[in-house]
Amino acid sequence: MRMIAYRLNGGDMPRTWYNILADLPKPLAPPLDPRTKAPLTDPAPLLRLFPKALVEQEMSAAREISIPEAVLELYERYRPTPLFRARRLEKALDTPAHIYYKYEGVSPTGSHKPNTAIPQAYYNAQEGVETLVTETGAGQWGSALALATRLLGLNARVYMVRVSYEQKPLRRVVMETYGGQVFPSPSNRTHFGRQLHDTDSPGSLGIAISEAIEDVLADEKAKYALGSVLNHVLLHQTVIGLEAMKQMELAGEAPTILVGAVGGGSNFGGLVLPFLGESLRNGNRSYRIIAVEPESCPSLTRGEYRYDFGDTAGLTPLLKMHTLGHDFVPPKIHAGGLRYHGMAPIISHLYELGYIEARAYPQKAVFEAGEFFAQTEGIIPAPEAAHAIKAVIDLAIEARLTGTKPVILFNLCGHGLLDLSAYDDFHAGRLE
Ligand SMILES: *Cc1c(COP(=O)(O)O)cnc(C)c1O
Repeated sequence: MRMIAYRLNGGDMPRTWYNILADLPKPLAPPLDPRTKAPLTDPAPLLRLFPKALVEQEMSAAREISIPEAVLELYERYRPTPLFRARRLEKALDTPAHIYYKYEGVSPTGSHKPNTAIPQAYYNAQEGVETLVTETGAGQWGSALALATRLLGLNARVYMVRVSYEQKPLRRVVMETYGGQVFPSPSNRTHFGRQLHDTDSPGSLGIAISEAIEDVLADEKAKYALGSVLNHVLLHQTVIGLEAMKQMELAGEAPTILVGAVGGGSNFGGLVLPFLGESLRNGNRSYRIIAVEPESCPSLTRGEYRYDFGDTAGLTPLLKMHTLGHDFVPPKIHAGGLRYHGMAPIISHLYELGYIEARAYPQKAVFEAGEFFAQTEGIIPAPEAAHAIKAVIDLAIEARLTGTKPVILFNLCGHGLLDLSAYDDFHAGRLE
């Protein structure tokens, strides 16, 4: 029998996360204090927003960071996640390329986001925090945080970008079923939200982050949680790549091309950083590493690399990253999880250093690829994940035309079963 699935046992889960900061050839530019514009050496402002353990992880130079036992136990409900060989997709494309995907859609909320929501809720609970406040775009992050906070005995308040709140009511129901409170953003609960509340602003992640931070600053028992971009989020997501390395060994192949969709950069980083780190340390292998983004929110391919705020109101520290500007309001595309103005500092830095390439695709081509994948491999991908699929299909066709045999590994970061209205719009020709 030809294998298509490579599964690990619970006992094979990684016991540590991998921190690429230990292996970077050139250090990351430090975050800056938003008022003085000096490097943020005193972590006090960060400690108002995040628990100490996460601030330490954000700045840590240790290569490996232990995963707490309680987090491993919660991970084990859905991890290790499977790795599949996409044989039917290969055949349909008539390509000599071998295509593998790591499937993160098996988590309870259907994406990779619980990989960081669980440890974030855990460290906050350890330090006596009662409520986590956050923003969400498509609702994937809010769902993951609502789940994790409930499992660890905390409350969740979620500011959901208005356009998604209206387009994706089912995600709100997921969050509410876990006991989270959800508000469309701009809301009338914050000063910043009230300035925009009566306009027809569709909202943006930047605006929702400003609202969430303002909410936290008014509640001493609350802290803030971010679902992407920051170093500690990418750190937690490295469980994806660490497992995939073992699974590619089971498959008896080494990938030559790594692909992922990028919003803030966490599922992409989670897959590729362990592979890249090993090659930086040992110099034994080189990979083509490709980040895929929407043409309508192209922070890597069109953004500038400079210091910018993480939110619209300018409350966060300044991060050096690829950015479309913190007041950028992206068009209403359906891949809500990819509508952020900035890119993780780690991913931006690696892109500048030339370790990563980027591609941008328009939404119609992306849905065509997602549907082709559903009809060959059987999984309806999240629209975000379909960006990676579009790039993989193009690479596989290129391989056929040039007679090369790449081994492509991509991250199928979520399923699309709560995104069916977007597929419906695609079928009906309603996508712009
Ligand atoms: C949130 C999300 C993304 C984008 O976020 P990253 O931090 O770049 O991973 C991509 N895919 C899915 C399914 C998501 O939920």
